[in-house]
Amino acid sequence: NTPTEVELIGKQEVLPIYKTRDQFSHKGSFGHALIIGGSYGKIGAAILASHSAMSAGAGLVTAFVPKCGYIPMQSSLPEIMVITDENEEYISNIQFKIKPTVIGLGVGLGTEKETSEALKVFLTNNKTPLVIDADAINILSKNTDLLALLPENTVLTPHPKELERLIGKWKNDFDKLKKVKAFSKKHKVIMVIKGAYTLTILEDKIYINSTGNPGLATGGTGDVLTGIITGLIAQGYQPLEASIFGVYLHGKSADIAVQSLGYEAMIASHVIETLGDAYIDLF
Ligand code: AMP
Ligand code: MG
Repeated sequence: NTPTEVELIGKQEVLPIYKTRDQFSHKGSFGHALIIGGSYGKIGAAILASHSAMSAGAGLVTAFVPKCGYIPMQSSLPEIMVITDENEEYISNIQFKIKPTVIGLGVGLGTEKETSEALKVFLTNNKTPLVIDADAINILSKNTDLLALLPENTVLTPHPKELERLIGKWKNDFDKLKKVKAFSKKHKVIMVIKGAYTLTILEDKIYINSTGNPGLATGGTGDVLTGIITGLIAQGYQPLEASIFGVYLHGKSADIAVQSLGYEAMIASHVIETLGDAYIDLF
């Protein structure tokens, strides 16, 4: 058990990560994020992630959703391009002709047998950087042989239940940390352990986030985080920087939103609306 390096992340720590925009930049400078997710009744998750990827600053965002997601996606997000699966209700065959910079995979995906088969085929052929959340984590937990297919520095963003499915039950917080570090080392992945004071862990390094509040304990906020981290990687942030900075911005945005909305009324969409204020607060 090697020594652990711990860093508390606040504004001073993310400022050196933040990249200012060049006057002569164009949308091609900020990459193309692809969000793969959604299923019948859970298209909203893909909408939230796509919207937040765009608002985090990705140059282009495409969503890959089952057919039933086409109209809701296109009518709620005019900035976003949409590709549909051949299946109406869930993803069954992940194929596309675009070359995304990064892929955010799993929000609202569901765990249909055909979806997990599609994920297997996709991961076998994929070389694009990945951010993996929600049901994609659940599918990996049931098919652990797929973990070997993840590109180095893939970001995984489990909430406590998803983490338990992935690494098994832990005895206490020390045991949990030990298991997460070992998992990160073994599979060469970045673990974003969500909750109050979200931890970003890469091998023996732990980054503790200082922003965020209990108003985030509401459906869809995790999907927004997935979109933000994906949108940051699209723009050229390294996966570890994108995870640390994305978790900070997500929490800061919620801290700003809660000032006018209160803990109860704040919902995931509001956290996207105030993302701009979270960026502006850096100056
Ligand atoms: P999910 O469970 O996937 O929707 O993700 C929930 C999001 O809200 C994660 O980013 C958590 O870190 C955040 N969150 C949930 N509860 C709290 C809390 N009490 N304080 C701060 N952040 C929270
Ligand atoms: Mg979630």
